[in-house]
Amino acid sequence: MKIVRVGLDVPVGQTFDYLSCDAGVGDVGSRVLVQFGKRAMIGIVLEVQDSSEVPATRLKQVVRLLRDTPALSHEDLRLLRFASQYYHYPMGQVVVSALPQRLRRVGKCIPAETDYALTKVGLEAQVDQLPTRARARRKLLLACQAQSVLSSADVQRLSPAERKALNAFVAVGWLERRARESAAPAQSYAALPGLPLTPRQSDAVESLLGALGQFRAFLLRGVTGSGKTEVYLRAAAAAVARGTQVLLLVPEIALTPQLEATVGERFPDVRISSLHSGLNETERLRNWLAAYTGEARIVLGTRLAIFTPLPNLGLIVVDEEHDASFKQSEGFCYSARDLAVVRASQRGVPVVLGSATPSLETYYNAKVGRYTLLELPTRINARPPSIASIPLRGVHAADGLSPQLLEAVAKRLARGDQTLIFINRRGFAPVLMCHSCGWLSGCHRCSAQLVLHLPARELRCHHCGYRAPVPQACPECGNPALAPLGQGTQRIEAALAQHFPAARILRIDRDTTRRKHSWNDMRDRIRSREVDILVGTQILAKGHDFPHLALVGVLNADAMLYSADFRASERLYALLTQVSGRAGRGDAHGEVLIQTEFPEHPLYSALRAQDLERFAEGLLADRRRAGFPPFVHQALLRAEATKVELALAFLEHAKEIGRVLGGVDLYDAVPAPMVRLAGRERAQLLVQSTSRPALHRFLATWRDLLEKSKSRAARWTLEVDPLEL
Ligand code: ADP
Ligand code: ZN
Ligand code: ZN
Repeated sequence: MKIVRVGLDVPVGQTFDYLSCDAGVGDVGSRVLVQFGKRAMIGIVLEVQDSSEVPATRLKQVVRLLRDTPALSHEDLRLLRFASQYYHYPMGQVVVSALPQRLRRVGKCIPAETDYALTKVGLEAQVDQLPTRARARRKLLLACQAQSVLSSADVQRLSPAERKALNAFVAVGWLERRARESAAPAQSYAALPGLPLTPRQSDAVESLLGALGQFRAFLLRGVTGSGKTEVYLRAAAAAVARGTQVLLLVPEIALTPQLEATVGERFPDVRISSLHSGLNETERLRNWLAAYTGEARIVLGTRLAIFTPLPNLGLIVVDEEHDASFKQSEGFCYSARDLAVVRASQRGVPVVLGSATPSLETYYNAKVGRYTLLELPTRINARPPSIASIPLRGVHAADGLSPQLLEAVAKRLARGDQTLIFINRRGFAPVLMCHSCGWLSGCHRCSAQLVLHLPARELRCHHCGYRAPVPQACPECGNPALAPLGQGTQRIEAALAQHFPAARILRIDRDTTRRKHSWNDMRDRIRSREVDILVGTQILAKGHDFPHLALVGVLNADAMLYSADFRASERLYALLTQVSGRAGRGDAHGEVLIQTEFPEHPLYSALRAQDLERFAEGLLADRRRAGFPPFVHQALLRAEATKVELALAFLEHAKEIGRVLGGVDLYDAVPAPMVRLAGRERAQLLVQSTSRPALHRFLATWRDLLEKSKSRAARWTLEVDPLEL
C-alpha cells in the first residue's frame, strides 16, 4: 500500500493523505479523484510515500488515479511550489488553480475533436425541404453544403439554435460525426522576415539571442513607438527555430487580439495558443493542451498563462511589465511578472521585461545590474510628441475644457488631424449633489460616490455594481434641483459636441466597449479616419497605433496626483506617458496638453522634459529615505468583517501574535483606504523588513498561527509584495 499526498482546492495550508494500492512515483503530478468529506473532488498528487503520520486505519483509499489525463511535470510543480511558499498560499489551491477549469471538475473533461461531414443525402437536400421559419436550419444546411466538413472550431462558432440543428441533421442522416482526421497540422518553424532592424533594435536582438539557452533577465526599456514588438518577434523567431517554446505575457486589456494578429502574421505556420480570460472553458482547455503537448510553439496570454505547462520552454517575454494587471489582487495574490523571472531562472532560459515606463522595482534591478538593460531611446518613424501643461488656476474651464485646449482641438479639426481627450472616469459626472443641503449621492454599500450615467438616468456604483434611478428630488431636503458635479467621459463627449457640432466624436470606455467586437469595430473606424475626436479612458492609453492621432488632451490628471498610496505618482507617470505615446505616431507631429492646477509639480516637469531617468531617480531617493520598496519588502494582512471595528480587532490580535515572533516591522492596523466595499468593512496591517528571508520566515510561522486561531468575526488574506496599500 502506498500513501498518496494530495493537494486539494481547500483553504488550508496542508495536503491530504490517501491510500493507493498501485501508485508509484510516476503518478506525481497526476490528477486524482478522491472523496473529501462528503464530496468527490479532483486533486493533484504531490508525493507518493511509504508511510503517513495519520494511522492507516483512518485513511481513505483514492477513488481513482486519472492517468489518462494530463499530469503536471516536476518542473511545473517546482514553479507552483515556489509560488505557494513565496506567496504563503496553500499548495493545494495553488496547484489546482494552475489547471484549466475543465480539469478541476469531476467528470469527462477532454473535448473529443469531432468533425461533422456532409453525407450524400445531405448534399442533395434542398433548402426548400425546410420550413421558411426554420432560419437556423436553413442557414446551417447552406453552410454545410458550401463547406462539406465542419470542424470543431466551426461548430464552436455556431449559434445555439444552429448547434441544435446540427444534431437534427445527424438524426436525419444529412450529417455524420467522425473523429478529427489528422491530430496536428504539419508546422514549419520559420518566421517571415520582418522589417530591417534599426541599429538599436539590432543590438537588443543580438543580446537576447546571445542569451538563449541560459538564464538571464533583461529590461527592454523603449519609449512608445520605439519598436519593442519587433525585438520580441525576432527573439521569438530564434527561440522557435531552435525548437523551443515562447511564452509571451501581456496585460489584461483589449490588446491581446491585436498582438495575436501580429504574431500570427509573422509566424504563419506555427501553432500559437492564446490563454486569457476572454476564452470559454473549452477553448482554454484546448489551448492549454496544445501548450502542454508542446504542439503550440508560441503561447500568448495574460497573467494566468504564467502557469501553463511548457515542456520545451526557451524564452519568456513580459510586455508592459509595469502593468498592475500582472498582479492578482485577490485570493492567490501572485505576480505573473515576478514569477516569469523565477520560472526563467528555474528553466535556464532568458526573460525579457519590456516597457516604456518600467516599474521602479524593475528599474532598480536593472540599475544595480541584476537585469541587463537594453534601450530603445527613440521612436522609429517619428519625433517624440511635445508635452506641455495648461495651467488651470484662474482659468474658467466650462465643462472641464479650458479655452486653450478647445483652441488646440479646433486647429486639429481644421487640419483634419485626430484628437484624443483622455479622462479616466466614465459616466456623466462622478457624483450628484444638492446645493441647498450638501447631500452627495453615496453608495450605501461602499465608501464611494454613485456615478451619474446618462442617458440611462441612473446612479451607479463602480465598485459594487449597485444601480438606482436618479431621484426626483434630494432625499435629505426635497430640493428638486440636483446638480452633477465634476466630469466623466459622457459629459466631455456632450460638451465637445456642443463646441464642435460638425465633428465626429467617438467615446471609448467600458460602457461603450462592453459588447464583444465593438472595440474592434471602433478601432477600424479610428484607423480609417471616420472619427475626428476620441474621448476615452485608459482603455485607450496602451499600445494602440493610431496613425492619424496628433493631439492628446489630458483632463483631471490631478485627481491621481495626491493619493495616500506611495506608488500613486509612479502609476500616474506611467499612465500619462502611455497616453502621450498615442500622439504623433504617423506623419503629423504629436502634441500633448495636460490640464493641471499644479504645473510646477515635479511629476509634470519630468513628463514635459520626457526624462524618465530623472523622475525615477527622484522616486528612488524618496523611497530610500522613507523606507519603501524596493529598499524594503512588504506584506499586507487584510481583514474584512461586518464592522470595521471587528476587522481592526482581529488585526490587533494578529499584531500581538506577530510581535512575539519578532524579526520584522509591524505597523498599526488601520482602516483600508476604501473602508466599505459591497457591504463589508475592511482594515489592513502592513508588515515589512529590509531582509526578504526574514520577512518570509516570519510570514510562514505567522500565517500558521493565524490559521489556527480561527477567528469567525473576520475573514483575512495575506498579500506578499502588495501593489496597493
Ligand atoms: P512600441 O511597442 O515600442 O511602442 P511598436 O512595436 O508598436 O513600438 O512599433 C512602433 C511602430 O514602428 C510600428 O508601427 C512598427 O511596425 C514600426 N517598426 C518597428 N520596427 C521597425 C523597423 N525596424 N523599421 C520600420 N518600422 C518599424
Ligand atoms: Zn438637499
Ligand atoms: Zn457600492
